[in-house]
Amino acid sequence: MASPIAHSLAGINILALCFPDRLKYLPMLLLSMFVATLPDFDLIVSGITHRTIMHSITFSVAISMSLFIWLKIKASPLYLVIPSLFFFGIVSHIIIDWFSLDLSEPAGLVIGWPWNMEYQISDHTIFLNLHRNDFFEPTIITHNAKALLQESIIMLPVTLLILFCRRSYFHTGFRCS
Ligand SMILES: [Zn+2]
Repeated sequence: MASPIAHSLAGINILALCFPDRLKYLPMLLLSMFVATLPDFDLIVSGITHRTIMHSITFSVAISMSLFIWLKIKASPLYLVIPSLFFFGIVSHIIIDWFSLDLSEPAGLVIGWPWNMEYQISDHTIFLNLHRNDFFEPTIITHNAKALLQESIIMLPVTLLILFCRRSYFHTGFRCS
């Protein structure tokens, strides 16, 4: 599975493509990065198996619909922005993981949870896997460094190109609120 670098950059891309006027708000930028990495928090949430519920389309729809209803009731001006970031952020995470090398058994994600409990993964690998065990073994360090470099080479030019195309939205400066 890919690292938080690839997922965070995808989150920035979604914000820049869908809501470029929000790019200058640092909390919104951080939220878009967080949301795109959110499914991997199943590694620390007890009772949830990694790459199942939180890596499913159902999860992305349920969380974004719940936020939409809650923000609409609160009459928040962000009632479309935040649910959209959650939906597309989680979907981008699923897509990136789907194209990532996975050596675990079974490999892949339960994208169709709870209706289809099969683990699914693409036949074509774009991203290398990241080893989370034996972190300080020289071979693991080399492999993880290669995986992070590869992700950066693939994702960073895309992000920089999108931000360059959206540069006019930064003209009023970076804001923290
Ligand atoms: Zn993941």
